[in-house]
Amino acid sequence: MEATREAIGQEALANRLAERADAGTLAHAMLFTGSPGRGGLALALGLARRLHCTGREGGEACGRCPSCQQHDQLQHPDLHFTFPVVKPPGKDKALSSDQLGTWRELLREAGPHFDMVDLRDKMALGNKQPFISVHEAAEVLRRLSLTAHAGGWKVQVIWGAQSMRTDTANKLLKVIEEPPAKTVFILLADSTENILATILSRTQIVPVPPVSKGDARAWLEGQGLDRSRVADAVDLCEGDLAKARRLATEDTAGEFAMFVDWMRISFARDGRKATSMADAFHDLGREDQKQFLAYALHMVRQCIVGNYGAATAVRLRASERGFAEKFSAYIHHGNVVDMQSELEKAARDITGNVYGRTVFLDLSMRMMELLHRPR
Ligand SMILES: [Zn+2]
Repeated sequence: MEATREAIGQEALANRLAERADAGTLAHAMLFTGSPGRGGLALALGLARRLHCTGREGGEACGRCPSCQQHDQLQHPDLHFTFPVVKPPGKDKALSSDQLGTWRELLREAGPHFDMVDLRDKMALGNKQPFISVHEAAEVLRRLSLTAHAGGWKVQVIWGAQSMRTDTANKLLKVIEEPPAKTVFILLADSTENILATILSRTQIVPVPPVSKGDARAWLEGQGLDRSRVADAVDLCEGDLAKARRLATEDTAGEFAMFVDWMRISFARDGRKATSMADAFHDLGREDQKQFLAYALHMVRQCIVGNYGAATAVRLRASERGFAEKFSAYIHHGNVVDMQSELEKAARDITGNVYGRTVFLDLSMRMMELLHRPR
């Protein structure tokens, strides 16, 4: 089934952009800022569809005209995508057009709320670092110098604009400053950091706000995902739907094994092993550390649900259930609130760039104490 392309929970911003488009006051070059999972690409697609629609009577894009249909197929000839890629084997240029099929496939399958992790996975990049090359900039200039196929607007989306190299950005400067008639540039980047000041000064900056918890929850639940995992994912996703989806769906066998080890070591108050475990946590990297903390929160919550006699409400895989039945003896009303708030605090610290090893070592010390706290 195709994923919806609408921007989730961004109605206010979508309306503002639509009003500007209708009033003819849309900036010809905009920089949407915010992590990709907030929906910048969805907003860009919606705006392009509206600009291209030939059947509109005041309201939204009609959904029936040839332009709308081309948009729905991701085949509109005047909507251009540039995004970070690597050089394909045997080629000397890194061009988005070589990966356009993969890009469209990801958009169709996942919808527009994907991020660099998803795109890298989809393009199977391994450790290679994708970027937007100066050759791609030349391609953009060439494309935009041509007349629009449908005689209307040309929309150039530059996704992951922070991956433009300096020469790429410099090559695009002039066209961003003085684009051909009826051309709109929509650049998307996590933030204004890593974007050349000369580009920033020529674009209107449009901050895309985080998606609200309610909207993120509804979106995940609408995909039929497990409610308890959805709850944890919503708490930890920072208003980013790409992260939320990963938090709620990724396989957790590795996390389960780590959680079991960690709780055993903490219960045994084994300081030496706790130290080496903190190193292991540190090596996971920040995204996986947060993922693990979300998982730990989920497990602790499931144990307490089980303790209050609501065994049928417990959402655990068979492999997890056996452990949780024994482990839940150590989770009770005397420690569960503190345990949850320690896990949440650790996740915030990780987000705030506190050194991973320190966070997990402190957290382990707290867990040692909490697990032995009397009921
Ligand atoms: Zn239409």
